[in-house]
Amino acid sequence: MAQILDGTRVRDDILSELKPRVAALAAKGRPPGLAVVLVGHHPASEIYVRNKVRACRELGIYSESVTPPGSVSTEELLGIVDQLNGRHDIDGILVQLPLPPQVDARRILLAVAPAKDVDGFHPCNVGSLVAGLPGPRACTPAGILELLKRYGIPIAGQRAVVVGRSDIVGKPVALLLLHEHATVTICHSRTPSLAAICREGEILVAAIGRPAMITAEFIRPGATVVDVGMNRIDNRAEAARIFRNSTEKMAAFDKKGSLLVGDVHPLDVAAAAGAYTPVPGGVGPLTIAMLMVNTVVSAERRTGLC
Ligand code: NDP
Repeated sequence: MAQILDGTRVRDDILSELKPRVAALAAKGRPPGLAVVLVGHHPASEIYVRNKVRACRELGIYSESVTPPGSVSTEELLGIVDQLNGRHDIDGILVQLPLPPQVDARRILLAVAPAKDVDGFHPCNVGSLVAGLPGPRACTPAGILELLKRYGIPIAGQRAVVVGRSDIVGKPVALLLLHEHATVTICHSRTPSLAAICREGEILVAAIGRPAMITAEFIRPGATVVDVGMNRIDNRAEAARIFRNSTEKMAAFDKKGSLLVGDVHPLDVAAAAGAYTPVPGGVGPLTIAMLMVNTVVSAERRTGLC
């Protein structure tokens, strides 16, 4: 039977390991500080930000939400970022995406001081990742590596296939696997014979945004499968098709009116993989944990504790 890679358990371990480090910083003068910039009203972003603020509170990290209106201009937002860059008590700045269309998102992300870029999106930090130099790593990819390592999944010498080439997941996770000496193939929407290539992967990472697209024929028997996808299904017929009319799943759908599905077929992966991340409860919980790690490391660097 396939092993479930439990992201919730690993998240809890990571957060409890951070607690004494946060306490040491507080004892030295001040706790780490994270500023989250949330522009306008975007229901999904509001939930993400609330979860991030809650994680900070539970750890004793100071957090501040800056909430300019949806009509904010690029110049006004640059002013906010500039002010946060100069704040002694703020170690990490996170600008929640997406930004409204009138804002030049690229200029905003470039304006965040690289030392405070806890999302790891600044080109300086992307460059550090490519070169294998220290620096904050994008949170979801870093969480995936942490999960694999903590479960003792071999990476060096393994054939890894990553489906998805986004700047926030696909590319950085491929680089992190490469630095761990995997032989990495990156696939995307123009890749021919996708299933055959995926089937070569001893480690398969799916970061696509297509519900249950990775079915049995994509999975090498016994592979480790990491499902980054988070797709909400609110169509009952689609949920019934994906979960093959499972009574339990359809009851859950009827209760909530939707179900969360990854990019990997949930039934096929359980049957074919050697180990896999479930959705929910796999990769998702690690993203915020790694944001907390990046914030604490930034505070330690800035206060000379590391
Ligand atoms: P993007 O839309 O930025 O990238 C998707 C990638 O998938 C692209 O590279 C695209 O190829 C590729 N792709 C799309 N369709 C296909 C296809 N049919 N065959 C092969 N490749 C395809 O998405 P993200 O990387 O931002 O996110 C991916 C998923 O991960 C989403 O479900 C998202 O919700 C989830 N996510 C989860 C997080 C978590 O914390 N668990 C955090 C971030 C994302 P191309 O480049 O050619 O267009």
